[in-house]
Amino acid sequence: MLEARCHCGRVSIIVPRRPRLLTACNCSLCGRIQPLFAYYKAASVEVRSTADGLDSYAWGHRVLRWYRCGYCGCFTYHEPAQRRPDGTSRIGVNLALVTDSDHLTGVAVNLRDGAADTWEVIDRFRFGILPGQ
Ligand SMILES: [Zn+2]
Repeated sequence: MLEARCHCGRVSIIVPRRPRLLTACNCSLCGRIQPLFAYYKAASVEVRSTADGLDSYAWGHRVLRWYRCGYCGCFTYHEPAQRRPDGTSRIGVNLALVTDSDHLTGVAVNLRDGAADTWEVIDRFRFGILPGQ
């Protein structure tokens, strides 16, 4: 179990396990806020928030809704605007906000090319490990 928490602590996200993979992206939004997403079934993720905690944002084709703390502004997770036909959904939790980043050391990070709109993996590295180590 890992916890990601916004800066002021109004929003926290509990995920069931260490991720196998993190996703970084260079799209116009991620390039600005530098999240590291790990994906989980929505039903396995617990979102805790004060009543005034969550705000959301959608852009472009609005396929994703991005949730951020309405007070300190940290982006905490995103979720498809529409669930699948079977009612399930997959949440991208921003583990750049993890409370103890030691839990992520060595996890593979794929950098995807959102800027070119291809979403191809253009770089791979490991969290917390410098090149050559
Ligand atoms: Zn906050």
